[in-house]
Amino acid sequence: MRTHDLRPGQLRFLGTGEAFDHEFPNTSILCCLGPVFLVDCGHTIPPLLWRALPDPEALDAVYLTHRHGDHAFGLPSVLYRFWEDGRKRLLTIIGSRGIDAYAAKILKLAYRVGWEDLPFKVKFLIAAPGKTLKYQGVRLSFAKSRHPVTNLAVRFDWQGKPFAISGDGSPTAATARLFHGCDLLVHETFQDEVFQPVHASLPGVIEMAHSVGAKRLALIHLSRRFRSQAGNRAKKYAKPGMRIFIPRPGQTVTL
Ligand SMILES: [Zn+2]
Ligand SMILES: [Zn+2]
Repeated sequence: MRTHDLRPGQLRFLGTGEAFDHEFPNTSILCCLGPVFLVDCGHTIPPLLWRALPDPEALDAVYLTHRHGDHAFGLPSVLYRFWEDGRKRLLTIIGSRGIDAYAAKILKLAYRVGWEDLPFKVKFLIAAPGKTLKYQGVRLSFAKSRHPVTNLAVRFDWQGKPFAISGDGSPTAATARLFHGCDLLVHETFQDEVFQPVHASLPGVIEMAHSVGAKRLALIHLSRRFRSQAGNRAKKYAKPGMRIFIPRPGQTVTL
């Protein structure tokens, strides 16, 4: 029984904001590919997830691109509410090396509980640059961006419709290779011009997305100081054959 309105091949942006935006929730995306993945789970995300997936069994896996609060600190609340709502199914958590210890630590800090207290099992899959993971018919591969902590951009290969999500950080040769041939690229675009080299800039992202053949480019994680101008600025750098859009929180896109 389907207990949510997402169909396989649909992505929903729960949030599209940066870490400290007062209007937009953190960047987090539900990806329904048969199995339902949650990509990133920042501190503002849990209520949005509970509204989108009221059934505590509906989520299959969480992928954390990196260990910053706006991408990971919602996880303890999500796990705790699964417990309260009677989840029984295994939950898979995917992240780079050390994700298991990190998740245990934030769960303990938040609510003083450990894995043994939860009535459902949690399984960890370790992502690494250049590694491929297979999960219920979906292939996930990873590459490292430029960010202060290890951030692994992720590519999903599903039914011949590859797409990718950058997480945070400016593009690298490795992430560009990962994104090559993706129809849809969801990329952080924190800034217009580069003033923080550990975040991506609008012209840099558009240039890179065009070079890897993306047909659709979704700009997310825009700085709260820049996002109102980003649409107009993007027009200046537009490329033929590539649609650039700024998804709204709650927006659904189809692969
Ligand atoms: Zn972030
Ligand atoms: Zn970050």
